Amino acid sequence: MKKILVTGGLGFIGSHTVVELQAEGYEVVVIDNLNNSRKEVKISIEEISGKTFELKVADVTNSIALNELFEEHKFEGVIHFAAHKAVGESVENPVSYYQNNLSGLVSLLGAMEKQGVSNLIFSSSCTVYGATTDLPVTEKTVIQKAESPYGTTKILGEEIINDYAKHKDFKSILLRYFNPVGAHPSAKIGELPLGVPNNLVPYITQTAAGIRKQLTVFGDDYNTIDGTCIRDYIHVVDLAKAHVKALAYCNEMKQPVDVFNVGTGKGNTVLEVIHAFEHSNNIKLAYTVGARRGGDVEQIFADTTKVNELLGWHAHYDIADMMKHAWAWQQNLK
Ligand code: UDP
Repeated sequence: MKKILVTGGLGFIGSHTVVELQAEGYEVVVIDNLNNSRKEVKISIEEISGKTFELKVADVTNSIALNELFEEHKFEGVIHFAAHKAVGESVENPVSYYQNNLSGLVSLLGAMEKQGVSNLIFSSSCTVYGATTDLPVTEKTVIQKAESPYGTTKILGEEIINDYAKHKDFKSILLRYFNPVGAHPSAKIGELPLGVPNNLVPYITQTAAGIRKQLTVFGDDYNTIDGTCIRDYIHVVDLAKAHVKALAYCNEMKQPVDVFNVGTGKGNTVLEVIHAFEHSNNIKLAYTVGARRGGDVEQIFADTTKVNELLGWHAHYDIADMMKHAWAWQQNLK
């Protein structure tokens, strides 16, 4: 059985990916420091898949722990999720972002090199495209200087992998995620935001649950159909499946590194998302329109031709499903 190491495998995207890997017959080992996840997620994953997996509670920046893991197991590949991901927090605390996201990646590459493990899937982000006007964005769209240390760690992470792969027998796929939302249809796993959510969908579900008084729409004076920002929301289960496809593709790749956008290819405004939530769940949401949020780009959505054609991956769920599953998960949260 092919064995895969998933770093950050108890996190939002990681946990859904572990489920999909197990469904495809992979044996999974997870390393997670529980910094932004809970140990109970392991039980929920195992309930969904009916299969167990080994969890090592350790930090990916801990080379000793990583090397031990790589000596104990013969990994076919690694999917690397473990990273900090809050844009605002990265502005406040850039050192912690460079430390965690970049040192973590470097430690991982070091351990992979030592044991000759050659397939890596890396979590990148559409944030690398910045405020591009080249829409929809293809993988050839020019990368812009990042607006936050978080964004910088994604651009540099891609570069580090490119540099490393040039001189090694190595295959890596960089997946540039658009906006991952939703939850597993079983409502057993989903997003666990710490404190007040920064992201739209958890803020919506927490407002509907009465945890937040009302949602603020950040600006309605953008140049879009209803004045609110456009994003390409992608169901986390679809995104998880893209990782499994990417892993298989590593063995067919000619070049050392390839990059794919992972979105639906369809943009939705903030108001469309709110209305989809209301409609799918038959709930009236308390919201108000406020000022723009600094650093938000007006619109971004993916050209998904490459991922569709080369990975044979297509998004299955639409925005209504995303809202239904996000709400079911929120209701299940204790
Ligand atoms: N947004 C909003 N209110 C919120 C959170 C987000 O209006 O409380 C908007 C935000 O301005 C952006 C969109 O929702 O246009 C998606 O934001 P999110 O933080 O979820 O993802 P981002 O695209 O910034 O990574």
